[in-house]
Amino acid sequence: MMQTPLTMPQMIKRAEKFFPKKQVISRTSKGIQRFTYKEIALRTRKLADSLQKLGVKRGDKVGTLAWNHHRHLEAYFAIPCSGAVLHTINIRLSPHHISFIINHAEDKVLLIDSDLVPLIEKVQAELKTVQAYIIMTDEKELPETTLSPVYHYEKLLLDADANYEYPDDLDENAPAGMCYTSATTGNPKGVVYSHRGIVLHSMALGLSDTTGVSEKDIAMPVVPMFHVNAWGLPFAAVWFGTTLVMPGPYFTPKLLAELIEQEKVTITAGVPTIWLGLLKELDEGNYDMSSLRAVLCGGAAAPKGMISAFEQKHGIPFMHAYGMTETSPIVVISTLKSYQEELSYEEKLDLKAKQGILVPGLEMKVVGQNGEVKRDGKEMGELAVRGPWIASEYYKDEWTNEAFRDGWLYTGDVVTIDEEGFVKIVDRTKDLIKSGGEWISSVDLENALMAHEAVFEAAVVAVPHERWQERPVACVVLKDAFKGKTAKEELYNYLQPQFAKWWLPDDIIFLEEIPKTSVGKFLKRELREQVQKIICKKIK
Ligand code: ADP
Repeated sequence: MMQTPLTMPQMIKRAEKFFPKKQVISRTSKGIQRFTYKEIALRTRKLADSLQKLGVKRGDKVGTLAWNHHRHLEAYFAIPCSGAVLHTINIRLSPHHISFIINHAEDKVLLIDSDLVPLIEKVQAELKTVQAYIIMTDEKELPETTLSPVYHYEKLLLDADANYEYPDDLDENAPAGMCYTSATTGNPKGVVYSHRGIVLHSMALGLSDTTGVSEKDIAMPVVPMFHVNAWGLPFAAVWFGTTLVMPGPYFTPKLLAELIEQEKVTITAGVPTIWLGLLKELDEGNYDMSSLRAVLCGGAAAPKGMISAFEQKHGIPFMHAYGMTETSPIVVISTLKSYQEELSYEEKLDLKAKQGILVPGLEMKVVGQNGEVKRDGKEMGELAVRGPWIASEYYKDEWTNEAFRDGWLYTGDVVTIDEEGFVKIVDRTKDLIKSGGEWISSVDLENALMAHEAVFEAAVVAVPHERWQERPVACVVLKDAFKGKTAKEELYNYLQPQFAKWWLPDDIIFLEEIPKTSVGKFLKRELREQVQKIICKKIK
């Protein structure tokens, strides 16, 4: 067979050639703007040309601090297609972590949304490698800023060459993108994506047994483009000529519901906290969601109560998947097998709440204390994966030796696998509660609590215990209508029949809010500290 390289220019060129009329619908500070792929492709060439003129060379890193919108999409292609490396920066990291990753990646140019300029102004004195700042704005003039030298995105494009040609000798193994994990522990760790990895991962997203993204879809990535490349959806969508809806800055559940209704979105993707918010909006409002064929959910476990509320109450198909920054991200996805469609809804729900089966192209194993675990849905072990879109190391980081061993990535996630091959994430190794030599899954308890009608959110953490080493404590946020009305006892009575006695939390604490990470996941480290303080106060 021919050895043609799997590089990214072919993706945007396909949209340019075959889908020039298809649209990118972008919400910006000026409201909804519509662009055809013809326009996007032309602007992408111009951006690539502008970057070259600013001195960006092959292998140079170009950082972006931006929401999900058309300009960010242009950067997604202009940077790697010209041979540079797209470094998406998580805008919700602390200023210290933002300057750390910009210096660590050695970004040469930064593309910044105008409303995010203050974030960079705060740390500019610490930035060692940045030579130019480009501000993405809808206004004619640049905002007041101390950044220098600074350029106006649209003005750069005005002067750029629309006939810019992408180099045709890019190496498929060359870096195309990079992304830092959101630092749930320690400093963020960098992951570099190759052209080949991005192309093959995009292809996997198009398989009908995975997300099945296709030209017919109207896809709305809600998961930020600064988090694992919005799960790779923008890359796949452009390649396939899929209509894209980009929700832009500071969106609310109401806005998302309106966008889905107005633009007839067919597939959307985000973390559970986003979908909890949308559910609340759907319960209160009156929206037509009939266009949706899939709400793709990952990043944290989707509680059963949430899945059934989408499917049973609102008639919206739900798709649960698992992955991580290190895996591009898709690893397993919960699509039922044909013969499983005959099961009762309760049985199907059990499967949908698992994270699913391995996507084609990857290999996995589940390693317990005595080698690979039995496929019985019970024995727990750490998930290890390998394949063409799995990172092989962290970027210049000593953590590499811990996670990458013998050609496998050890995910740090404890899972079970059942006889059908469905993987269930039990916990992260560090969040698992080790009580008297046995393991308790915080995720299982959380999901059970979140299925209770009064509970808006619940997170379970370990607290140190003299006798048992660790014991679980549950933190619960009640829905507004139940505040002050639902008592601990009611939740205990609800949990009791579902779990062994020693699994039941030692305490249930009502909170106003669960602390979250920069991407909306429960921030267990901080929650553990909060809980510790509350418990100490109670003892005093
Ligand atoms: P970070 O590691 O910084 O939190 P990632 O987005 O890379 O950022 O997080 C990946 C982790 O999220 C996985 O290792 C796993 O623990 C968790 N995760 C992802 N998807 C799911 C899911 N569907 N169910 C449960 N946990 C999930």
